[in-house]
Amino acid sequence: MERRDVAIVGGGLAGSALAAVLSRSGLDVGLHDPHAAYPDVFQAEKLTARQIAALGRLGLDRPALAVATAIDELWIARSGRVVERRANREHGIGYGALVEAVRSQLPAGTMHVGRVAAIEASDDRQRVRLASGETIEARLVVMATGSARNLLAPLGITLQDVASAPAMAIGFDLAGANGAPALTYFGHSTGDRTAYVTVFPIGERSRANLFIYRARDEEWSRRFRADPRGELVAMMPGLPDILGAFTVSGVPVMRPIRFHESRGHRRDGVVLVGDAFATTCPTGGTGLDKVLTDVERLAAMVPGWLATPGMGLSKLARFYDDPVKRACDRNARAVTAYARSMATDPGALWVLRRFRNLHAQKLRNWLRNEMLPRLS
Ligand SMILES: Cc1cc2nc3c(=O)[nH]c(=O)nc-3n(C[C@H](O)[C@H](O)[C@H](O)COP(=O)(O)OP(=O)(O)OC[C@H]3O[C@@H](n4cnc5c(N)ncnc54)[C@H](O)[C@@H]3O)c2cc1C
Repeated sequence: MERRDVAIVGGGLAGSALAAVLSRSGLDVGLHDPHAAYPDVFQAEKLTARQIAALGRLGLDRPALAVATAIDELWIARSGRVVERRANREHGIGYGALVEAVRSQLPAGTMHVGRVAAIEASDDRQRVRLASGETIEARLVVMATGSARNLLAPLGITLQDVASAPAMAIGFDLAGANGAPALTYFGHSTGDRTAYVTVFPIGERSRANLFIYRARDEEWSRRFRADPRGELVAMMPGLPDILGAFTVSGVPVMRPIRFHESRGHRRDGVVLVGDAFATTCPTGGTGLDKVLTDVERLAAMVPGWLATPGMGLSKLARFYDDPVKRACDRNARAVTAYARSMATDPGALWVLRRFRNLHAQKLRNWLRNEMLPRLS
């Protein structure tokens, strides 16, 4: 039977980054995922400056930035008009390309292409059964399986849905918007249930991500599928003035967002990271913050855990109780709730907050782009 220090199940960003970092520290790691080359799925497509810094602390920023596109300037539109133009340090990147860039740092023999069929966990050694029939023994199993539930249930771990109202991310390419600025355009009214559409470059593509609090099977979604540009402009009539005569090219990808948190995860032998632990709303852009924080905090603990016998909960609980991880998870939950209320809550408090944001941005813009140049 093959033996490893650590078996990581799931080779999205969380699993691949953890495998790269642990291998670099000299551990014998196996990464299990069905995809030999990560597919071009619609998931995170932007790296914030904070996320790039986190990748840097993991030694993974260079390969990621080599396949990313800098977004040097960003325009912000509210109520249909540009209210702020500012320098920007985000990067556009396809999720598949990001995962592949991270995987390029794995030592040979780390990646096992194939689905894991079952896990047997204990306070000492763990067994990972592959769909191919092989069994791997490992001291520690890390579940980085995103939203997949089937391996967790037999371990007594559930992913509990925590939001009743629907949310969806829609990804599509724009044509004819060449030369237009990178843009984040907020929804006009709470009735639209729209957070924002953000338009940015990935290589030569002009990419758009629309974040909306609707379900895929409702009437609005059917109309959007039939006429994406028409529905977008009906909801955001200022877009053509800013982007020019754009069209939507190809078929938009609509991804409903499932919000879950794991329950029963405090157990021997197995630890959950990234979306397997909990998901957040992509509107706030905190999903990758969580992934990278989990990887950084766990990677610092695992060598110490392996240096002593056993892999019981008393060791693993340190990860879940880590103050930095907990603060990151708390912030992600708060940002998720805030973004939804900002987009959909008609209450007076939220009306005031939207008003404050609009005018703060106008003021910042005036100071930066009109007042300061005059003074200098
Ligand atoms: C549409 C969308 C837009 C987003 N936009 C943003 C954004 O702008 N900013 C941001 O910060 N976050 C964003 N997010 C969130 C972010 O993408 C996720 O938090 C992050 O990608 C999760 O990574 P992960 O590695 O935990 O899970 P995943 O990337 O989902 O990886 C899970 C892996 O587990 C594998 N797996 C599952 N079951 C098995 C099995 N039995 N055996 C082997 N392998 C298995 C799967 O094949 C998959 O490769 C977005 C999410 C979505 C859905």
